[in-house]
This record gives sequence, C-alpha cells and structure tokens, in this order.
Amino acid sequence: MPRTGILHLIQRKHGGSELSAAEIRSIVQGALGGRVGQAQLAALLMAVCYEGLSYAETLELTRAFVDSGAVLRWDGLPGPVVDKHSTGGVGDKVSLALLPWLAALGLYVPKLSGRGLGHTGGTVDKLESIPGFRSALPAEDFAAVLCEVGCVDAAQSAQLVPADKLFYSLRDATDTVDQLGLIAASVMSKKLAAGAQYIVLDVKCGSGAFFATPDKARQFAALAMRLGRDCGRRVGCVISSMAQPLGHAVGNALEVAEVLRWLDSDVELPDVREVCCELGAVLLLLCGRAQDLPAGRAQMLAALASGAVRDRFRQWISAQGGDLAALAALLQARTGITVVDVRSPSGGYITGIDTRGVGELARRLGAGRQSPGDSIAPLAGLECLAKLGSPVVPGDIVARAYLPEGSGLTAAKVSADYSALLELSPEPGPVSPVVLESAVPEASGMDSAPAS
Ligand code: URA
Repeated sequence: MPRTGILHLIQRKHGGSELSAAEIRSIVQGALGGRVGQAQLAALLMAVCYEGLSYAETLELTRAFVDSGAVLRWDGLPGPVVDKHSTGGVGDKVSLALLPWLAALGLYVPKLSGRGLGHTGGTVDKLESIPGFRSALPAEDFAAVLCEVGCVDAAQSAQLVPADKLFYSLRDATDTVDQLGLIAASVMSKKLAAGAQYIVLDVKCGSGAFFATPDKARQFAALAMRLGRDCGRRVGCVISSMAQPLGHAVGNALEVAEVLRWLDSDVELPDVREVCCELGAVLLLLCGRAQDLPAGRAQMLAALASGAVRDRFRQWISAQGGDLAALAALLQARTGITVVDVRSPSGGYITGIDTRGVGELARRLGAGRQSPGDSIAPLAGLECLAKLGSPVVPGDIVARAYLPEGSGLTAAKVSADYSALLELSPEPGPVSPVVLESAVPEASGMDSAPAS
C-alpha cells in the first residue's frame, strides 16, 4: 500500500468514517507485509480507540485476522471440539485448569492463547514459566498433543493468526487495548482459526477487566456471539467478576503453582472453581452433553472430585514438554527474588480492591512486559492474601510480593503501592458473586438468551 494510502485511511478513521471491507483487508495485509509501518498502524489503532469500529468493520477485521494464517480443521475426532477464551483478567488462571478439566470429560480443546496484555496476564506467559514448556508448536505437534491428551494450548504464530500477533503486541505497547471491536476481533479470530465448533467466552467485568461495568460486558458478549453466529460457530458467554483477582496468586509461575496446589487438594480456590464450572457447563450445554446448566455444573464437579482433572493437567503439561518438578525446584530456591510481606497500615474490612492497579503492580514487578520484546520474570508477582470482605487489623499481612533483582522497585515502595490499592471500611461491604450471568445462543436462531 502506498504511504499516502495508509495516511488517507488514518485520516478517514480519525474523521469518524467507516472503512470498507477492502480497506480493512489492505491494512491487515499491508501491516503483515511491512508496507504499513508500526507507527502508522499505531496511529490507526489510536483512531479506532477514539472513533470505534462498526459491526461490519469488526466482522471484516476478524475475518482478515483469521485469513492471515491457517485455519485448523478437526474432522474425525471422537468428541466435540470446544474452545474457551477470556477477555483478560488479573490472576486469571482459569484456562490452566479448565482445559484438562474439559479433556477429562471427553471434549477436545485446541486453544490458541495470547501473552500478557496491558495490566492482564496471558496464559502463554504462565505456561512458559514451566521449564521446558513449548508454546510454539508446529501444526503436527499441536494436533498430536490434542489427540493424545484432549487439550493443547499454543501461542499465535506465523502460521496461525499472525495478524493478531502483530496487532496484539502493538496494542500492548501503545495502550490501545481497551476497545470493544479490537478485543472482539482479537479473541474471535483466535477461536475461529483454532477450529472449534463450540466456544465459551469468559467476559470479565469490574475494576480489573477491560469492561468495567456489566453493561459493557453484555455489549461485548452480544458482539462476540453475533460474530460467532455470522462465522458459523456456537458461542456462549459467562460474565464473571474482576472486582478482585481470581484466587490469590498474580504472576506466571505463582499462578501455575497455585493451580497445582488446588488440583492436589492442598488449598481451596472457590472462585476459580465456580468460574471453571460455569464455563464448562455452558460448553457441555452448547455441544449437547448436558441438558441444562445445573446438569453441566454437576458433571464438572464430579470430574474434579474424581482426581481426573489433576491427572490430565500433569499429562498435558508433560506432553508440551513442561517439567513441573523443575518448576517446583525454581519456586523452592527463589533465586534472585526478595519476598516482601505487605502489612496493612490500618484496620477494618476490605471493601474495595483496585484490581487493575494490582495487575499494573505485578507488571512493574516483572510479571508482564512494558515493551513488546521485553523478557518477563517468571517468578515475579503478588499473592493477594486479604480479599474482599476480609477483616484486617493494623500490621496484618495483606499480600506478599515477589520482587526480582533489577525491577527498580524497593520493598517499601511495593508495600506502599499495594496498600494504596486497598479500600478499608469499619463495616464489611457487599461482595458480588464471581459468576454474574451466562448467555447461550438458542438452538435454532442462536440469539443471546440469558441462562442464569
Ligand atoms: N484477549 C485477547 O486475545 N485479545 C484481547 O484483545 C483481549 C483479551
């Protein structure tokens, strides 16, 4: 595309015009082919953040992302092919447990994930904190792990949705993440390319999510379900709360270790369990393996209680080369990590957590990137010990920070910054449930219908 061409499109978007399908395709292809530079793409993304995308633009962007790479097909597998994606949260470790959980129930989950984006963590970064884990899988290996284990998770690559990979890292670097259509195209293109017929989206809502209010989350859910329908897939949505981090750990290896302890029954993670059960129930309903959501939830709980999820988790990690014993050794040694106890300066009940701030602090500690090529510190992060509703007396440890060498932060600064993210009140406040609502398409028309 000539330079004047892209400049003209940036100006048109800035002026609030709708871009045509051909123009959107030329931008995506131009960016991939190097004819649209990063600076120009960043300017266009910023214009999109201000002016928005119409439904037609969002659909075309989604399709252009899908067409930028291969589209996988899974004919002939002995079970339904399903997929799950989150719009991004803090301490969101759901995929780590849900993939093997669904596999243990006989479903097949070929998943493509992203890295950390903005203040949110990414499943690929979490999995790569396990020594040896391979997230860059050639197509044959991706298929082999899926057939053998029932689930597989890999990063976008030059073969699979490369356009999302490029846009995603530039959005992260230019703070142009937070736009409904861009998020929908990014999420849905990965799901469409990975080839699943039944898809559930975990739409996060609250202070740690890209959607702060239930209305925004519902708007996103309706958009994603419409995109799914227009691309021939059945998509259900669960709106879940990000008013506080999920579980306690925020940071890559810390989150993997927390999930392992939970699956080994050493700790309870009721919020993670509830979100997983709801997402699984929606998928079981969508693919006809459960009559309704309560029956789906019951199947999920039975699989967890049987120990099958824990066994499948270990089988999956090892099939992708991950060495959990080596991870345990790294966590035991904590080389180069200072552990900081964050003590509350005051007392009361926790009535608010600035969850986006928690994600940002974890990012500054090294759990996420500031620029696209940055390496991350796998052992860095936070453990949020006091959650909404917790009673606290002055001096209580409300969090633990894992501070790597070279982060540029001091223990005192981390403690002060974390404490400032908590709201304490003399009386306990209301704590919303973690699953706020679910929507599944109706069997015939596939319009959104509230399911709970
Ligand atoms: N997850 C994605 O894959 N993309 C986004 O834009 C946000 C969350």
